[in-house]
Amino acid sequence: MKIVADTPSCVGAGMCTNVAPAVFDIDADSGLVRVLAEGGDVPGSEEGAVSDAIALCPAQALRWDDARAV
Ligand code: SF4
Repeated sequence: MKIVADTPSCVGAGMCTNVAPAVFDIDADSGLVRVLAEGGDVPGSEEGAVSDAIALCPAQALRWDDARAV
């Protein structure tokens, strides 16, 4: 599944990098979220952690790509 980060909404709280450090990083220059996964593609083994990050993000800046069947 693909993760989408709405960077302008990010407040740099770092919750996502705490729960899914393999997928998210904080950009050193902007202080905002950066998706490490190539093309936003999240490996299956990381999907649970990314779902937790989506739930924990205080800015609602993270979401699964709309193409995902919910
Ligand atoms: S948890 Fe949300 S606000 Fe915090 S760094 Fe990640 S995307 Fe940005």
